[in-house]
Amino acid sequence: MKDHTRQYINGEWVESSSGETINVINPATGDAFGRIAKGNAADVDKAVNAAHDVYIEFRNTPVEERREMLDRIVNEYENRKDDLIEAITDELGSPIDKSEKVHYQMGLNHFAAARDALDSFEFEEQRGENLVVKEAIGVAGLITPWNFPTNQTSLKLAAAFAAGSPVILKPSEETPFASVILAEIFDKAGVPKGVFNLVNGDGEGVGNPLSEHPKVRMMSFTGSGRTGAKIMEKASADFKKVSLELGGKSPLIILDDANVDDAAFTAVQKVVNNTGQVCTAGTRTLIPESMKDEFLEKVKEKMEDVKVGNPREEGVKMGPLISRKQYDTVQSYINKGVEEGATLYHGGADQPEGLAEGFYVKPTVFSDVDNKMTIAQEEIFGPVMSVITYKDLDEAIALANDTKYGLAGYVFGEDPETLKKVARSIEAGTVEINNAKGGADLPFGGYKQSGIGREWGDFGIDEFLEVKSIKGYFK
Ligand code: NAD
Repeated sequence: MKDHTRQYINGEWVESSSGETINVINPATGDAFGRIAKGNAADVDKAVNAAHDVYIEFRNTPVEERREMLDRIVNEYENRKDDLIEAITDELGSPIDKSEKVHYQMGLNHFAAARDALDSFEFEEQRGENLVVKEAIGVAGLITPWNFPTNQTSLKLAAAFAAGSPVILKPSEETPFASVILAEIFDKAGVPKGVFNLVNGDGEGVGNPLSEHPKVRMMSFTGSGRTGAKIMEKASADFKKVSLELGGKSPLIILDDANVDDAAFTAVQKVVNNTGQVCTAGTRTLIPESMKDEFLEKVKEKMEDVKVGNPREEGVKMGPLISRKQYDTVQSYINKGVEEGATLYHGGADQPEGLAEGFYVKPTVFSDVDNKMTIAQEEIFGPVMSVITYKDLDEAIALANDTKYGLAGYVFGEDPETLKKVARSIEAGTVEINNAKGGADLPFGGYKQSGIGREWGDFGIDEFLEVKSIKGYFK
């Protein structure tokens, strides 16, 4: 058993107040492989006070010092590459090559992007005889989900450190070990005492007291809308700033001049990556009626190539879902799709052959889906594609936007003008044209119920800053 039952507070590993622990499950086996502390309000209070004691000093550090700190973090993060990959593979069930190429790499990119953003970030601006100053907001609470254990944490931490805000991180209790390694990285990289605090535990015991602590000035949360609303409610008592990255049900529009084979390949990847547990997953595939049959055949071919299995096995492309609960949720959505009259074209609710242990599911495709059906409206967070046909471009855009979410959108085709028109029409924080990759310096966040605020690069730094006008400064 991997035991990490202490909290990292004020630059030290200290005993957790409750003495209680939470088991961490390996989703590939369904068995517990480690334990973490089950923190409580007393731990949160200690951590918040440690951060509060240093917030003015940290806010006033020269930008160059914070840049150097981020640079040391980048180096130390690289030194811990193997440990991070192992932790992510065990706790998330991510295929080991994805743990490296996606998860490890995304975390690294965020620290590097925040460091580089500081080279040109304007914390001060003269306007006539006046000065506009951006200064760190103060103590920030960070709460993250399990689906990207290094990405979701690193992007918030990098931005807060660059801005000069001390933090208390509560990672998901389902994937806590990557954050334990991050704490060790920051310790080694010389992050000053009190600037980074890690309090492990669940939402009730740690998330709640953190969201309502009077010395916390901002809550930055990634996770479900349900939890985001609770955090916002708690934070509203003393008007904390709230930044939320929530769910999605993103459209993937295939235009009539698209290469069907390429579009089918990417559509499948967007659904099976991270076993569909991706907030930006393009799970609503919109296709012209005339192209449906050809597209479905190609999708089936590509889905059959997706090897499902143990994350440590060579060639495996899709590991298990995170938990029994997530497994049950995905099964019930697949059953719901059938009940509501969609055609189960590929996959299904039963477990893949030979994978009875662990939380494995089959990549699944529904055709003849109506955009009003539950499987087209609710976030499943599993590898389930809904194929919806459209008659013309106007209908495609209307269907794409007929959702309460607005996190991402995808469009495939050849004609540049149509691609641009569609990209501009999708109501979402990120739109990808023909699988373009972008970078960690681009803003990320959602329209509508997908969130409030923007993260990544300089936009992420802005989230952790207050803005002050000093009138007559240059008089
Ligand atoms: P979740 O909301 O259940 O949990 C997220 C975090 O909140 C966990 O650390 C959990 O312990 C904590 N939490 C739970 N109850 C809390 C409470 N009452 N107060 C404070 N904290 C509490 O979400 P999840 O199941 O871990 O993650 C899946 C969801 O996250 C999906 O809906 C997905 O779309 C969303 N997500 C969004 C993004 C994005 O950037 N928009 C990225 C990844 C995941």
